[in-house]
Amino acid sequence: MPSDALLEVRNLKKYFPVHGGLLNRKVGDFKAVDDVSFIVPRGKTLGLVGESGSGKTTIGKCITRLIRPTDGEILFNGVDLTKLNNRDMRKMRSEIQMIYQAPAASLNGRMTVGQIVGEPLLLHEKLKGAAARQRVLELLHVVGLKEEHYYRYPHEFSGGQQQRIGIARALAVQPSFLVLDEPTSALDVSVQAQILNLLQDLQDRFNLTYLFISHDLGVVRYVCDEVALLYLGKIVEVADVQTIFEEPKHPYTQALISAIPEPDPTDEKEEIILKGDLSLSKPDVGCPFAPRCHAAKVSECDTIEPPLVDTDGGHRVACHLHPEAV
Ligand code: SF4
Repeated sequence: MPSDALLEVRNLKKYFPVHGGLLNRKVGDFKAVDDVSFIVPRGKTLGLVGESGSGKTTIGKCITRLIRPTDGEILFNGVDLTKLNNRDMRKMRSEIQMIYQAPAASLNGRMTVGQIVGEPLLLHEKLKGAAARQRVLELLHVVGLKEEHYYRYPHEFSGGQQQRIGIARALAVQPSFLVLDEPTSALDVSVQAQILNLLQDLQDRFNLTYLFISHDLGVVRYVCDEVALLYLGKIVEVADVQTIFEEPKHPYTQALISAIPEPDPTDEKEEIILKGDLSLSKPDVGCPFAPRCHAAKVSECDTIEPPLVDTDGGHRVACHLHPEAV
């Protein structure tokens, strides 16, 4: 594990059984995540980007152990989370927290803000009474909420404020790593920037490390240091954020970038329209992206699945058009 890495995922797989037939027997596996590896350095943000169904949220759930992976290693500070029993994983949960896409659904509507943010303090630190209240008020202040919000209920807040409550709850146990699962996609555009700015401020202030899960490359551009593109459970391209946007090599990445609206309407660019969606059947052999690929393909595309290879000093791509650097 590299010395600057806080998280290293090695060959992660998560398969779900597929049942069918009269007796509803297992007839195969749905490979939601298939041999995925990546590193998140301390204090940095890795963006995990892909369409709905690409496997990105499943990876987040495996890291937080909401689900158990089928195979692979998840090294956090050198400790393999996949090997921990439930008791040891409970201790580890104070280090790794998750922020959810739909803030309203992730907050218990029958609890006040004080109870919601104070609950992890009680569970992990046995903190209660005046000391707990003081910590909750500090956390509310950190995320931009006020003391008067302490006794209110989630439904009394806007979507952006609800997400701030969720962030305060996650910070209560002083984590070092946050899985941010589409943290702004359910929010109005005007509020999205506020939450993204808050997350960046918190990262600087508390030296947090983020895995930022999103379907929106436009958002990822402003918050991530490195970006990994996922397609049908596999990483197809990974590089630092500047390289991804200036020199995208995989046809899938190129298509997603071409679809980002330009702030200047006179700045015209040609959008690459992706054929169909992820439901287009994955071919049994060859490149999984082949049925939707707009690029001038080579004969191997239909016969050999391209491996993810380093094409240029850390810029890794899974496409026959970009063979390994020599
Ligand atoms: Fe397209 Fe072939 Fe590259 Fe797959 S390997 S992305 S089909 S050019």
